[in-house]
Amino acid sequence: MPLAPPPPLRIGLTGGIGSGKSTVARLLAGHGALVVDTDAIARRLTQPGGAAVPALRTAFGDSVIRPDGSLDRQQMRQLAFADVLCRRRLEAILHPMISDETQREALAGIAAPVVVFDVPLLVESGRWVDLVHRVLVVDCSEDTQIARVVRRSGWTVDAVRAVIEAQVSREQRLLKANDVLLNDGIDEAELAQRVDVLWQSWKALGAPTV
Ligand code: ATP
Repeated sequence: MPLAPPPPLRIGLTGGIGSGKSTVARLLAGHGALVVDTDAIARRLTQPGGAAVPALRTAFGDSVIRPDGSLDRQQMRQLAFADVLCRRRLEAILHPMISDETQREALAGIAAPVVVFDVPLLVESGRWVDLVHRVLVVDCSEDTQIARVVRRSGWTVDAVRAVIEAQVSREQRLLKANDVLLNDGIDEAELAQRVDVLWQSWKALGAPTV
């Protein structure tokens, strides 16, 4: 009878806006990791026909739903930002759905050596830290974050700063890290080399016991 594969190492990948999470996730996928993108899951749940849309309409009314049937993310963000009860209600609807979908996608990686959960707000949400074996933080300076997001998305400096301020500080994030990739002052080729080294270090850990 063939032996079952060892359980995958579960990595929580996080970092501030524009730190390079998606780039690192792509590089890890190139090594054979299965990447579960929680932002993409949240977007799917709230797109036209998405599974979370009916509950969000019931909870917050038609004003948070766009004519095409998707969640008006900006309107929802404003409501949640202004009212903590609103934010909790939103989380009570979305988080269990995101969790279920995340588990479902992670099961597809049962034979992968590593499953990477890309969770921008991993440290903020708290609940992720116990679900993964290791937390990987992609780190860079605020100036670098701003330069990248302005270049990539055409945002204003102030808009990027506002998001950075709403996220946990660089120091708080680093306190939760088991692994850190410093993605600053280097090009993507050098980042790829750092990811190679990290991947080898994970391999040297052996299979997780739980
Ligand atoms: P967000 O939080 O906004 O989703 P992110 O953390 O996933 O961002 P990426 O999308 O990976 O960050 O990177 C932001 C931008 O910076 C991208 O355009 C990416 O190509 C670029 N970038 C990331 N790392 C480097 C690097 N070392 N050298 C040059 N460009 C980089």
